[in-house]
Amino acid sequence: MSSVTQAYCVKCREKRDINNPQATYTKTGSAITKGTCGVCGTTITRIGVTEAHASVPKPPVEPRARKNK
Ligand SMILES: [Zn+2]
Repeated sequence: MSSVTQAYCVKCREKRDINNPQATYTKTGSAITKGTCGVCGTTITRIGVTEAHASVPKPPVEPRARKNK
């Protein structure tokens, strides 16, 4: 069991350790972890819930306004 969060870096084209990972949510309510590539410094995002999300309040997702008329 590792606490290191990894994500795919598009620059390295490999999975890299995320530097300074931050658990957050997208505006659509998806759990993501954001950070920078430990090798090249590119911002990388990992999609999915992690342990860290347990302490992060999920923001309310604004329902899309529907215009049915
Ligand atoms: Zn990289």
